[in-house]
Amino acid sequence: MLRKKYYIYLAILVFLFLGSSVFLLFAHGQVNNTLVVQEVVSVPEISDRQEIIEIKSGSTFGELMNAIGISPVLANEIYESALDKCDLSQIRSGHFLEVDFDKNSDEFKQLKYKIDSENELLVRYENNNIDLGSGECIAEVRPINYEIKITTKEGEISSSMYEAALANNIDERAIIEFANAFQWTIDFAMDPRVGDKFKFIYEERYLDDQYVMPGKILAGQYINDGHKYQVYYFEEDKDNTGYFDEEGNSVQKLFLKAPVAFKYISSGYTTGLRYVEAFNVSTGHRAIDYAANYGTPIRAVGDGTVIMASYNGAYGNMVKIRHNGTYQTNYGHMSKFAVKKGDKVKQGDVIGYIGSTGFSTGPHLHYEMEKNGVKINPLLEVLPPGQAIADINKERFFTLIKGFQEELNK
Ligand SMILES: [Zn+2]
Repeated sequence: MLRKKYYIYLAILVFLFLGSSVFLLFAHGQVNNTLVVQEVVSVPEISDRQEIIEIKSGSTFGELMNAIGISPVLANEIYESALDKCDLSQIRSGHFLEVDFDKNSDEFKQLKYKIDSENELLVRYENNNIDLGSGECIAEVRPINYEIKITTKEGEISSSMYEAALANNIDERAIIEFANAFQWTIDFAMDPRVGDKFKFIYEERYLDDQYVMPGKILAGQYINDGHKYQVYYFEEDKDNTGYFDEEGNSVQKLFLKAPVAFKYISSGYTTGLRYVEAFNVSTGHRAIDYAANYGTPIRAVGDGTVIMASYNGAYGNMVKIRHNGTYQTNYGHMSKFAVKKGDKVKQGDVIGYIGSTGFSTGPHLHYEMEKNGVKINPLLEVLPPGQAIADINKERFFTLIKGFQEELNK
């Protein structure tokens, strides 16, 4: 019994020894492999030094450069090289300067400044290496290269579109762009009804994975009182670019729906909507009143010629615009004029500012439309659609919008 047990123990020991040797062999190999990998990873990575400076009000370009170790001579070189493209003495507070220094020499390498939402200034220091310090600053303005993400947002109106946007976490700037795409179709002060629905597909712009701002509205839908309106962005050619309906007709018409832009009748002014007075033949109010703060810009609803810009009794300061042989629009109670008699205006141009001059109890715009001398309700006037996409480009248009249309109709 004992002997037999001994052999068994021996067999187990041999087995364990062999087994562990084999294990060690593999384990050793693994350790080696790990070491090899670590050697690759552990190569030191030196990156350029970067300084990001927020421009505070009152600070000068020279002071900001000095604070990050750039000499007055070099700061002036940067300034001079950029001057014909961007005046760095006029940098705006709240914006940023981004400066990179070379990882090896720690010398100035480049400076970036965002001029506006579309363009940035880039000043690079180029050393030609023939003589030490013989480099020069070279400035260029280039488009900001955003990463684009396409996103869809939607909402339902319970009080105003602006509030529906807030409730759905939609960027205020995106809802303003959306309203702009519908500015020939919907008057967002007068038309919206409780239960209206909106949905839109647009570009979101990112820099270094940080959301910056909304970009183009690519497609949008507004269901107003049961009627569905859709717009699609399309670049037919440089003369015909903008928004089209699902059939390829331009939605950009002779007149804007409202003489006050959505952004002024929305953010902060939602209570103003209570004081909007509609067109009403029985009360004799053959106009639409838009309530908004003093000084809110008033825009021409269409191209035309200013035929009056003066005080006009109960209407107070009034502008009248003749658009063509048929239509004229009139704007009353202004606090200030932005045009004078005889001026030619373009659709959307600011012609004056909201006030309470003449017979008026609070700041509002009294807006009239005349057709052949008769005051009509501008909201009910059916205008011909704008220029349609040419037949040879329609295939391209329909192919482009197919996916968007499916998304909107979901
Ligand atoms: Zn009125």
